[in-house]
Amino acid sequence: MRVLDLHCDTLSALRRLRRESAGPAEAEAGALDPGACSQLPEKPGLRENHLHLDLSRMRQAGYSLQVFAAFVDLGREADPLAACREQIQILREELAANPDWIAPVESWEDYEENRRQGKLSALLSLEEGAVCQGDPEILGDLYRAGARMMTLTWNHANGLGFPNHAEYRPETGLVCRPEERGLTEKGRAVLEEMERLGMLVDVSHLSDGGFWQVAACTRRPFLASHSNARAVCGHTRNLTDPMIRAIAERGGLIGLNFCVSFLDPAWRPGRCGTPEEMAAHLRHIRDVGGMDCLALGSDFDGIEEAPSFGGCEGMPLLWEALGRLGFSEEEREKLFFRNAERFFQENL
Ligand SMILES: [Zn+2]
Repeated sequence: MRVLDLHCDTLSALRRLRRESAGPAEAEAGALDPGACSQLPEKPGLRENHLHLDLSRMRQAGYSLQVFAAFVDLGREADPLAACREQIQILREELAANPDWIAPVESWEDYEENRRQGKLSALLSLEEGAVCQGDPEILGDLYRAGARMMTLTWNHANGLGFPNHAEYRPETGLVCRPEERGLTEKGRAVLEEMERLGMLVDVSHLSDGGFWQVAACTRRPFLASHSNARAVCGHTRNLTDPMIRAIAERGGLIGLNFCVSFLDPAWRPGRCGTPEEMAAHLRHIRDVGGMDCLALGSDFDGIEEAPSFGGCEGMPLLWEALGRLGFSEEEREKLFFRNAERFFQENL
């Protein structure tokens, strides 16, 4: 068993922790949520930490590749590109500090070489297309800095396109507002440049209208790195059945998100996701799009509550639980690593 995970927010979590440990003035400058963490080591790092994911536990759990997102919240960052570059720098520092355990991947050959050397692979993605400001030069710079995947939006309209929204209201639960508006002209130009560069297009967070424009305007396979099935949980962050089919027919990937509010339509804050809930999404996506489009997109350190089996250390428990829930070894191998490896071999 190997683990390839298409999405985590550990870089932005490390950035937040570092700013908090640097003092209130720094934290204020980054417009950070105060009081999120009380007991911190001097400089929180990737080797061992108290987050959902660290290298020590990933090695134990059999990881071979993690996609690290540089996540930027346009609503909180005065300089989105600087916030993105700060996270790329954190990843660089952490890779330099742990060369025995992890190395970057920018191509399939890098991945194979890392595996030969018994190292984890780190793939950089960007979660907020607006960091490139619609400028192909900036996009090219970020590509040269190692970014190989990007979501066009996060949860804000950003000049490139529109996100999917969902609000939680205590009295009514989730209120979905499907957003049909698609990509702007600038967004379509960025999309074209991404395909030209060979930067993978990630449709997670994108509006339904934007999704269909990506499907129509691109030629290569694309992915939803951390999204589930809307038929199972009616959250707009999840994919409709026609979307699942469109990704599968193109040879793309759908990464299972562990966020409880994308798993369970009746979730309440404070509860965590379970393998049973994940299995319901996996069965549905398998039945609609086939087993070959499924992968993992944990969203570790981007979700409030780790799943019932814990953080990255719990992936072997998920493997076992899905076996008990009726998924064959072949199906679990596809989900955990084979599909993602095939996708990266063909598209990275
Ligand atoms: Zn996300």
